[in-house]
Amino acid sequence: MIRPAKMIRQVLSSLFKKPATNLYPFNKFEMPDKFRGKIVFDPELCVGCKLCMKDCPAGAINIKKVGEKKFEAEFDLGKCVYCAQCTETCFKKALKFTGEFELASLDREKLKITFNAKPDDTASK
Ligand code: SF4
Ligand code: SF4
Repeated sequence: MIRPAKMIRQVLSSLFKKPATNLYPFNKFEMPDKFRGKIVFDPELCVGCKLCMKDCPAGAINIKKVGEKKFEAEFDLGKCVYCAQCTETCFKKALKFTGEFELASLDREKLKITFNAKPDDTASK
């Protein structure tokens, strides 16, 4: 049991310390380098081997050929378990994680994202 004098000392010292928590979502902060947030796909690097599809334990990836040496990727972030297996598997480094973590949605369709080869290699949804 903590004695009152010790407790008062702890309370007083806490008054002058920085808070241990962040005022989220008002204060944004950078996630660490290896954080597993939203996944991104670089169609310029993909060679269409589909090894990432085979290795994904959640069946969250679909790689489609859309032209000569052109591939697009569909990810279902609602299925993804953020295990990072696909990023390990991809020998072309076409898949990587970002620090984006605010992905919650009430609409599962919004968690399905497509990365197109054209026009500018960004997510279309
Ligand atoms: S493993 Fe990499 S190169 Fe192969 S299909 Fe997947 S993203 Fe493309
Ligand atoms: S992180 Fe894991 S679950 Fe998510 S797409 Fe990659 S392999 Fe599949």
